[in-house]
Amino acid sequence: MLSLPLENGNSDLVFSDAVMAHFLTHQQNRFGDMEAGGQLFARLTRFEIYVEIATGPRPGDKRGRTSYAPDRSAERTEIKSMFARGLHFIGDWHTHPERFAHPSSTDERTISDCVTKSTHQLRGFVLVVVGTGPLPECLSISIYGNHELSSSKFDLRTSLNRLRVKR
Ligand SMILES: [Zn+2]
Repeated sequence: MLSLPLENGNSDLVFSDAVMAHFLTHQQNRFGDMEAGGQLFARLTRFEIYVEIATGPRPGDKRGRTSYAPDRSAERTEIKSMFARGLHFIGDWHTHPERFAHPSSTDERTISDCVTKSTHQLRGFVLVVVGTGPLPECLSISIYGNHELSSSKFDLRTSLNRLRVKR
């Protein structure tokens, strides 16, 4: 489990062990590994955004060594079925073939579109990029635009000591 305090001071963004294990499984550790990705689904409480499930990759995704385009129709189906289980779509994840991940300029552009389209109560969007290094240091976790959440970026490589992180 990985728990990060949000800038609003009242709640944490928490990634379940299952989600962390899912990231680990899809790291691009070998030269031929393609980028993988999917969506993040969370239970929302007053105190936590508990990211319980990470989906993908799916057969319909377009995956390259340094590119990833999700199957949009599979994404919509996931959002509906997870919502029926009380799980809210809160963002996306994908891998990069770099040791410590950073969002690319394409990633940043895609995300700002998603923030404007987002309708859930957070009015923000979480992007996790998974590098090839050790977890959780190789993760880049960004929260883009919102009201209740301040936009923030967790560079876990440099901020692990400062953050209250449960590992
Ligand atoms: Zn990317």
